[in-house]
Amino acid sequence: MNDFLIVGGGVIGMMTAWQLADAGHKVTLVERGQCGREASWAGGGIVSPLYPWRHPESISRLSRWSEGYYPGLAKRLLAETGIDPEYRQKGLLYLRVEDEAEATEWARRMGKPLERVGANFLYDKEPHLAPGFEDALWMPTLGSIRNPRLGQALRAKLQSLPQVTLREHVSVERLRRQGGDIQVDTAEGPLTAARIILCGGAWTGELLKTLGLDLPVHPVKGQMMVFKTPLSSDGRLLLERVVLADGRYLIPRADGRVLIGSTLEQADFDKTPTDQAYASLYESAVAMLPALAQCEVEHHWAGLRPGSPQGIPFIGPVPSIRGLFVNAGHYRNGLVLAPAATRLLVDQLLRQAPILDPAPYHW
Ligand SMILES: Cc1cc2nc3c(=O)[nH]c(=O)nc-3n(C[C@H](O)[C@H](O)[C@H](O)COP(=O)(O)OP(=O)(O)OC[C@H]3O[C@@H](n4cnc5c(N)ncnc54)[C@H](O)[C@@H]3O)c2cc1C
Repeated sequence: MNDFLIVGGGVIGMMTAWQLADAGHKVTLVERGQCGREASWAGGGIVSPLYPWRHPESISRLSRWSEGYYPGLAKRLLAETGIDPEYRQKGLLYLRVEDEAEATEWARRMGKPLERVGANFLYDKEPHLAPGFEDALWMPTLGSIRNPRLGQALRAKLQSLPQVTLREHVSVERLRRQGGDIQVDTAEGPLTAARIILCGGAWTGELLKTLGLDLPVHPVKGQMMVFKTPLSSDGRLLLERVVLADGRYLIPRADGRVLIGSTLEQADFDKTPTDQAYASLYESAVAMLPALAQCEVEHHWAGLRPGSPQGIPFIGPVPSIRGLFVNAGHYRNGLVLAPAATRLLVDQLLRQAPILDPAPYHW
């Protein structure tokens, strides 16, 4: 019997498998499609909650740990897989922030640099932004990750590890109590392990329903689009930094592409992109960066965030079921939270001193 069975190959499942394998354990990861192709692919890759001061401290604590971890993680993945997840630490400009006092107080408490800057600074940093902004909040330490490549790199890493068995295109149909253990029924037959970890993203609640359990994790649809932009004559990108205004954000990639996100919709498990969201995202993008009106929209897509109460993920044992664990419900912040959230569960699984107090994340 394998030591660990992981259900779901998003960033959460893959980072968990990697850490357990690194600690010398045998791990099987079962994924219904290809690893890293659901929310972990669809997201924007901002390595911070959008307005971090509006979140509970339990999210800030995970986020802070992960933010410190990402630069090294990206370097290690590039060195070990040849795939560059493109971690870029270029900072974030917040436009039109209404609750600046709360933001400043949060930054002071967290020891984060955050300052109000004037129009000269703003347009010097981002000359192509729409005119008329008089000031902004500037967070110089913010990073972003090219999450589809992060997924590819994690998958390549797992494929290279002899302790890891990746079973892609295998769907888990239900969980079943078998004596004192849990059995995982897949389309290709039953699987079990000493410990089973559910990392099924937005589908984790559905998986637990098959055991008669009700975990409040539900899908929240998010649509995004990407523009292909030319480099300017001086070799600068049209946009260098993440910019956020009225809940909508622009994220530049190293090759000049610019993403706009995102919608927040309750649409059950429907991932169909809509014309209405296209029009709304397009309008927001051009309002922030007018030159995008001359650029091609390369792609428009939707993904399902694993929503949870207050966006606080469930990380830890499933109560009253021996050997069953969950790591799900990271909502809008699963990419940034993934390193800390997975490490926190691995610490509990391996009985190591935890990086943080695990209590706020227990079911
Ligand atoms: C539009 C959008 C923008 C976002 N932007 C950001 C951002 O900028 N920063 C940030 O930190 N976060 C962002 N997020 C959130 C982030 O993407 C998610 O929180 C994170 O990817 C969740 O990771 P996960 O591994 O839990 O889920 P997923 O990546 O969804 O992985 C779950 C996996 O489980 C598999 N699975 C489910 N059920 C079964 C089954 N029965 N059998 C087998 N396999 C199964 C699925 O196929 C899937 O691959 C965004 C999300 C969206 C949609």
